[in-house]
Amino acid sequence: MSERYDNRFLDILGDFNFEVLENSKYSIYALSKNLKFIYFNPAWFDFADKNGFDKVASKNMILGTPFLKSIKGVRLRLYFYNNYKKVLKTGKAWHHDYECSSKTEFRFFHQTAYPLKNQEGILVIHTEMFKLPMDNMNREAFKAIEQRYLNADGQIIQCSNCRHTQRADKPEHWDWVPDWVEKLPFNHKLDICPTCEHLYL
Ligand SMILES: [Zn+2]
Repeated sequence: MSERYDNRFLDILGDFNFEVLENSKYSIYALSKNLKFIYFNPAWFDFADKNGFDKVASKNMILGTPFLKSIKGVRLRLYFYNNYKKVLKTGKAWHHDYECSSKTEFRFFHQTAYPLKNQEGILVIHTEMFKLPMDNMNREAFKAIEQRYLNADGQIIQCSNCRHTQRADKPEHWDWVPDWVEKLPFNHKLDICPTCEHLYL
């Protein structure tokens, strides 16, 4: 495993307790002023492991790598960029709720981005609010049939948040396609569906 923090991080920790962050069961990372990774706690790596981040994604989880490289989809990149920059500018914490489900489990998280000392960086803590077996969610599962979802641009659109897939002939329908949650189709594009829109304003 590569290093998890650099000295810049310890310098701007302020009132946060390093031991507490290290031992937390929640995934935590910190970013520098220019939004590059300067810290990951051990739980972050466990989370990445368990959630099967692919090799490319894991490669971007390295100190000094721009945070935005780890985010898929233009929409989400812009959203996080704007809000993290706002934390740095205003010195006020920012909160964001999101879903991060797997094929078999419904999971809902809350992230808080705290300004670090002198607004020199931000600390981002992801707390799990709840999880339920997907079977309890009453989500109708659809088969991964390309013809049904491939749009005129040759792309399959999936919601970054709830991971539902947009139908090509009825774009207002977004279906739960478990196989594409487990593994994104090759020609996918990530967006935010209307149901999740309110979480990304
Ligand atoms: Zn959605």
